[in-house]
Amino acid sequence: MLTLDGIKAVLKERGCKPRLSRGHVYALCPAHDDRDPSLSLTEAPDIHDPSRKRILLKCHAGCKPAAILAALGLRWGDINAPRPKQAMPRSEPLAVYPYRDDAGQLLYEKVRWPGKGFPYRRPPRPNDKPKFIKTSPDGRKWVWNLHRVRKVLYRLPETIAAVKAGRTIWIVEGEKDAGGAASLGLDATTNPEGSSAWRSEYSECLSRADVVVVPDNDDVGRAHATQIVESLDGVARRVRMLQLPGAKTKDLSDWLDSGGTPGTLLRLLDSATTCMPEGRGGVGGERKEESVTLPEVPSSALSEPLVKGANVKGPRAPYGEPTVHTLRIPGVARLVRSLQADGLSAFQAASAALDYYLQTRGGENERR
Ligand SMILES: [Zn+2]
Repeated sequence: MLTLDGIKAVLKERGCKPRLSRGHVYALCPAHDDRDPSLSLTEAPDIHDPSRKRILLKCHAGCKPAAILAALGLRWGDINAPRPKQAMPRSEPLAVYPYRDDAGQLLYEKVRWPGKGFPYRRPPRPNDKPKFIKTSPDGRKWVWNLHRVRKVLYRLPETIAAVKAGRTIWIVEGEKDAGGAASLGLDATTNPEGSSAWRSEYSECLSRADVVVVPDNDDVGRAHATQIVESLDGVARRVRMLQLPGAKTKDLSDWLDSGGTPGTLLRLLDSATTCMPEGRGGVGGERKEESVTLPEVPSSALSEPLVKGANVKGPRAPYGEPTVHTLRIPGVARLVRSLQADGLSAFQAASAALDYYLQTRGGENERR
């Protein structure tokens, strides 16, 4: 097999005037009438297996790599070793996250590869077509999809045990964060398939649980956290949302990497926003919730405590457009109505009601 230097020698032989510059070989393309070097050759990690290198050919005039090789009298096998026959798995995964059912039986795994892929795999079922069943280097057989698989929370058996024992459940975004939190001794979980993929059946496992939701520090993360909070409304015993401090903190892993400790996290919990106070949810709990819809108010007009204390529902306003916000806070509608009767605008009334709520009921719950 030829190295980049070997190919350079072949190009030289064919009069393609190759030269090496910053790790690339530039040459006249042998496949078209080239006056200005159009051909570049680069050695780069194989996208399917970054531990191996491959030589990439590119003619900037658009000649196909096969045509360039043919013009040089070479074959693919002369410059790059054939890839192993089996397409999956291509290399050792960086991480494998097992998802198990209530009884601890493996349902599926999420696999993290070098690069970007996060595919899922599941044990084969008797009716799976053999062509979809792949063998991993350790000899185990997998089907790389989630067709007709029961989707569950990550660390489900541990989570169920923690709920039973009355411990606080931490919902974070992603298995890496859940693993990080679990390694600190927290009962942490996450949902599969990333943000906006929370399902009501995940909430059912958290019946009567004391839950802390830790959103990723971006709009998608906050929207996801809001989806979880709403889904847990009337199901969990208490739901709190904990925004990690620091504008640059992306998520819990990031916060832990920058020196966050379990002690600090628990202290931060004192400042968490209570989205659903204790005692309203759970079996026999009161599901009903009063809400008030604010008229069209630009997001910027929502004052800091208003946004922080409220479960603000409805689309965020990405382009600064006015949007409708629904505040879902127990008892707030009655208070707003009476304030409006006193002559306040709907927005002023909601704002004042919220301040009142934060100073009284909300604060009471947060001090617990
Ligand atoms: Zn060319």
